[in-house]
Amino acid sequence: MDLLLFGIQGSGKGTQAKRLAAAFHFDIFEAGGELRKIAASGSPLGATVKSYIDNGKLVPHGIIMQVVREAVMMRPKGQRILFDGIPRDGDQKKDFDAVMREAGRDFRAIHLLLDPEEGVQRILGRAKVEGRADDANEETIRHRMRTFVSQTIPVIESYKREGKVIEVEGKRSVEEVYEVLEKVVRNL
Ligand code: AMP
Repeated sequence: MDLLLFGIQGSGKGTQAKRLAAAFHFDIFEAGGELRKIAASGSPLGATVKSYIDNGKLVPHGIIMQVVREAVMMRPKGQRILFDGIPRDGDQKKDFDAVMREAGRDFRAIHLLLDPEEGVQRILGRAKVEGRADDANEETIRHRMRTFVSQTIPVIESYKREGKVIEVEGKRSVEEVYEVLEKVVRNL
């Protein structure tokens, strides 16, 4: 069973994804990370991708969907995947679900719940450590969060109606949140 991890920026999603992946042998597909790699490649495609990331905007549909499709299709079925940051809007959900169906992969989703204002504060703290340009600008962060609320929350709601979502409170220490996640994933 594959896993989708949802959570607003700053919810601790990336950190928890790494821990879960190590414990349960998931391969992580981190949409933002994959796109940052393309942005850094220096190609014309990279320049396009970079301009979206720097503005905190969703990269065009065709680009991200091709990346995720290839990532899914190249992995053997026995290799579990943890998806971080995809799908992020209704169109991506439609195509993502189709790719997963085609690959014969079943999945559940976890939503790490966090108040957006708490997320902004956590990211502004983290930017100093990791040095990500799109994390240093408060307006860009707020734009990404508005996109999450307006585009990604409806995706989560829709998976909820399909009975695929487990909600986990994210406003606690990394350790405490992980303890809950570990139990949830063990019982998937
Ligand atoms: P993240 O690392 O998840 O905060 O994503 C950083 C940036 O990568 C976002 O602000 C978008 O520009 C881009 N990005 C990440 N995931 C997606 C996606 N599923 N669709 C489009 N753009 C994405």
